[in-house]
Amino acid sequence: MRPRPSPIVCSPTGSNSLPAEGMTERMRNLDELFAALDRSAFRRRFRLSARDLDYLQDRTLPVVLGHARDFIAQRLAPALPPNDGKQTPFRGHPVFVAQHATATCCRGCLAKWHGIAAGHALDTAEQAHVLAVLERWLRSEQARQS
Ligand SMILES: [Zn+2]
Repeated sequence: MRPRPSPIVCSPTGSNSLPAEGMTERMRNLDELFAALDRSAFRRRFRLSARDLDYLQDRTLPVVLGHARDFIAQRLAPALPPNDGKQTPFRGHPVFVAQHATATCCRGCLAKWHGIAAGHALDTAEQAHVLAVLERWLRSEQARQS
C-alpha cells in the first residue's frame, strides 16, 4: 500500500523558501535563522491554532518537546527518512506546525535552511539543534498569542 500523496509539498521552490545569503555548511545561528524565517511569507503563515495552543497548555511544553524529540528521531534523523519531503503533516500536533514554520519538516528544508546536509543520519548535536529551534518557536508562539 502506498500512502496517499500529499497535495502540498512542504518545501516549495521560489524566493520565499530561499535561505538568506551567507549561509555556511555549519548549523545556523538561531537569531539569524529566525530573522530569515520571519522574512519568508511561506514560513510566516504557519501559526498555532487555538486547539494547538490548548494542547500545549494542557500537556505543557516539556511534554510536547518530548513528542518533538520522538518525531525528530523517527522522521528526520535517519539518513534516508521514509517519505522524505512529505513526512510532516500540516496539522494535528503543535510540533508539526512548528516544523513547517521553522523549516525542520524534512531533510530538504533542513539542508536548505539549517545547513544540515541530507543523506546522513542526524547526530546528537543536530537533533538538539532541531529541538532548540522547535522550542524557541513554540515559546514565541505561546507568548505571541497569550
Ligand atoms: Zn520540508
